[in-house]
Amino acid sequence: MPAIIGPCRSPKRRHRCRWSACTNATVGWFGGSSGHCAACRGGDVVHCPDRQIPGLSYVGGWSTTITVPASALVHVPDGMPLPEAASFGCAGVTTFHALRYSGAEPGDLVAVLGIGGLGHLAVQFAAAMGLETVAIARDKREAAVELGAYSCTAKATSKARSSNG
Ligand SMILES: [Zn+2]
Repeated sequence: MPAIIGPCRSPKRRHRCRWSACTNATVGWFGGSSGHCAACRGGDVVHCPDRQIPGLSYVGGWSTTITVPASALVHVPDGMPLPEAASFGCAGVTTFHALRYSGAEPGDLVAVLGIGGLGHLAVQFAAAMGLETVAIARDKREAAVELGAYSCTAKATSKARSSNG
């Protein structure tokens, strides 16, 4: 599911926004959780039995307005163009969390499989985190290196293997 992005408004100012400059926010596939079950208390909010998903648990991106639990929102920095920020709402969160919780430390080797919607962000995050980043993708070597991978490799297809002997 693509991320939903737009202006953030606290309902009738009943809640004080936790962001000092609350202008734009985004939400991805994860749209909230109970916050009190065993999974949530253990930090595994994605497996909360009461997990919410925009478009399924409440209205989604086709509506003109949407109410999202604050815990599921990601603040969009002022000045960041919304089309550029939108990819961080879902693909960015997914890849960043995977890297953050991987246990990898600067200098460790990380492989990113595929340089598509998620992979191009994963390569950039991994490189920025100081990880030795290898991309695995066909025909994307130049893009992968430009994004921060120190190397890009591709698994040979059966056709390529047979033609190479
Ligand atoms: Zn929960």
